[in-house]
Amino acid sequence: MSHGRQRIALVTGGAGGIGLAIVRRFIADGDRVAFVAQNAGRIEKALHFIGAADGRVIGQSIDVTDGAAAAEFVAAIQARWGTVDVLVNNAGISPRRSDGQRPWLLQTSLEEWRRVLDVNITGSFIFAKLVAPGMIAQRYGRIVNIGSLAGRTVPLIAGPHYAASKAGLVGFTRAAARDLAPHGITVNCVAPGRILTAMTEPLESEANRAALARIPVGRIGRPEEIADAVAFLASEAAAFVTATTIDVNGGEFGS
Ligand code: NDP
Repeated sequence: MSHGRQRIALVTGGAGGIGLAIVRRFIADGDRVAFVAQNAGRIEKALHFIGAADGRVIGQSIDVTDGAAAAEFVAAIQARWGTVDVLVNNAGISPRRSDGQRPWLLQTSLEEWRRVLDVNITGSFIFAKLVAPGMIAQRYGRIVNIGSLAGRTVPLIAGPHYAASKAGLVGFTRAAARDLAPHGITVNCVAPGRILTAMTEPLESEANRAALARIPVGRIGRPEEIADAVAFLASEAAAFVTATTIDVNGGEFGS
C-alpha cells in the first residue's frame, strides 16, 4: 500500500531471501529501490521476478566490502533519482562446514573470521557512511541493519564470527543512531530468528527440525515477516523509534 511520498530505498543483499522480500515490499509501497548483491545471475533472476515495476527498481553487482564500488553506486543512484531516504543493510554471510553444521571456534580460520566481519559489519558501515551526508542535508533518513538471533543470545546454529558480527551490528546501530538522531535520521536493527531462505534451506534439514522444536510459535518464519518489521521502521509511524533492535523470531528469544 502506498504511503504517499515516493521514497528512494537502497537494499544490500537484495537478490534473494530476506533482501528480495524487502525490495518487493518497498516496490509494493510505491517506492524506488536500488539493490546490490554479488551474483549477477541471481540479480537478473530477481529483477525478472520483480518485473518492470515502472522502472522503479535497479540492481547492481557489488561486493559490499568494496568501498569504491559502493561509493560509485550510491553516486549513480543520487544522480538518477536523488538522495537515498532509506538504507537497509541486509547483505550477510554465515559460513557452514562441509557437513552443513556450524563451525565452532577451532574450525574458524582467521581468514574466514575477517571475511564475515568485513561483509556483515564493515559493509554496513560503508553504506551508512555513504548515504548519511545526503540524509543529513535533507534532515531525513532511515537506516535499518539486519542483525540476527545469533547476535542476541547464545548462537546454536551459527559460527563465532557470525555471532560476533551480528552482536556488533547492534552496537553499531546504537552508535550511528546516537550520531544521526539530531539530523532527523533513525537507525535501528531487526534481528530475525529462523527464516526460510537460501541461507537456511532445505526446510526438512536437521537444523530446521531442531529450530522448529525451539520456536514457541511452532513454525519457521517467512522473509516477508522481516520485510514487515523493516517497513515499519522505515515508516513515519516509527519516527520516535531509534537505536533499538526488534527481535522477529516466533518467541525463540525475547530480550
Ligand atoms: P541469502 O543468502 O538468501 O541472501 C544474502 C544476500 O546477501 C544475497 O543477495 C547475497 O548476494 C548478498 N551478499 C552476501 N555477501 C555479499 C557481499 N559481499 N556483497 C554484496 N552482497 C552480498 O540470506 P538471507 O536472506 O537468509 O539473509 C539476509 C540477512 O538476514 C543476512 O544478513 C543474514 O545474516 C540475516 N539473517 C538471516 C536469517 C535466516 O534465518 N535466513 C536469520 C537471521 C539473520 P548473492 O545473491 O549475490 O549471493
